[in-house]
Amino acid sequence: MWAASVFTLYPEMFPGPLGASMAGTALTNGLWALKTHNIRDHGLGRHRAVDDTPAGGGPGMVLRADVLAASLDAATPLGDPRPRLLMSPRGKPLTQEMAREFASGPGLVILCGRFEGVDERVIEGRGLREISIGDYILSGGEIAALTLLDACVRLLPGVMGKHESGDDESFEGGLLEYPHYTRPREWEGRPIPDMLLSGDHAKIARWRREQAEALTKERRPDLWKAREGQ
Ligand code: SAH
Repeated sequence: MWAASVFTLYPEMFPGPLGASMAGTALTNGLWALKTHNIRDHGLGRHRAVDDTPAGGGPGMVLRADVLAASLDAATPLGDPRPRLLMSPRGKPLTQEMAREFASGPGLVILCGRFEGVDERVIEGRGLREISIGDYILSGGEIAALTLLDACVRLLPGVMGKHESGDDESFEGGLLEYPHYTRPREWEGRPIPDMLLSGDHAKIARWRREQAEALTKERRPDLWKAREGQ
């Protein structure tokens, strides 16, 4: 079974939103598994300290390499085949392609940072792959981990219904998705485009493709350029 192990100072944040809807049903039905590990269980001393001041000075606190490694090592057996990730704004930006790659593997080990981040040596020493969910700073890796997990879990076999197969969605094929409409046929003076009511499936497919291309060109010139380069 696809299994995620999450290392965090806030295990109560999990499964959080992943306990509801499609991902939640799939979790209950055993289509995937989620374990959380409290980093503080391996904290040092009476106060179970997990962080310390940055070497070289500067603001904030840094998660200790020894504490993080002890936490990771205690819960992930030697030879665990799952990729080990660190949620990090310095990481490779998460893409749909990455989500597909992770979903087709055995699961994920995810470390959630806090404060100023984690001691660089644990990234090297435990071979952590840094993944970012976008160019902005969150207060911790938990919401980033939930985002990554949601993107992966919905792709697992049996999680999405057949009718929502996901093949048509934004980023699949390098395009943003075409616009959707449903009843009523007219709303606040805005009709559904005639084309969609024509019943001509080939024409509709062509129209949707044109819409998707126009949207991508306009909103995401970066995606459009990457497609042309292929
Ligand atoms: N000082 C760091 C930011 C620390 S934010 C810097 O400037 O790069 C605290 C933690 O939140 C990080 O260790 C990371 O785990 C998480 N985090 C913040 N923004 C993120 C993002 N965009 N993607 C993934 N994780 C993020």
